[in-house]
Amino acid sequence: MNPVVIEIHERACRGCELCVDICPTKVFRFDQDARLCKVEHAEDCIACLSCGYICPSHAIKHSGHHEVKNFYRDSEFCNRVGRFL
Ligand code: SF4
Ligand code: SF4
Repeated sequence: MNPVVIEIHERACRGCELCVDICPTKVFRFDQDARLCKVEHAEDCIACLSCGYICPSHAIKHSGHHEVKNFYRDSEFCNRVGRFL
């Protein structure tokens, strides 16, 4: 499986540290001098995408991860499955 790639757009980052706080696997480190967050342990990322969701600057981009569609949110799929319930 390919590793997840996490990119932070440094000019967009406003140093709020929300991503540092929310990440369940402590992927980020806050650089006090630069007042920016940095990716420290990308290998620990579980691709929950919480950081990208919470970032107020939309500064975090992920690639290389596998997205699993939540079938119960897919109305077309639910309609097809509904016949068997
Ligand atoms: S949540 Fe976004 S703006 Fe805040 S520190 Fe992280 S990357 Fe920067
Ligand atoms: S996607 Fe989840 S695990 Fe990966 S860096 Fe963001 S918050 Fe952490």
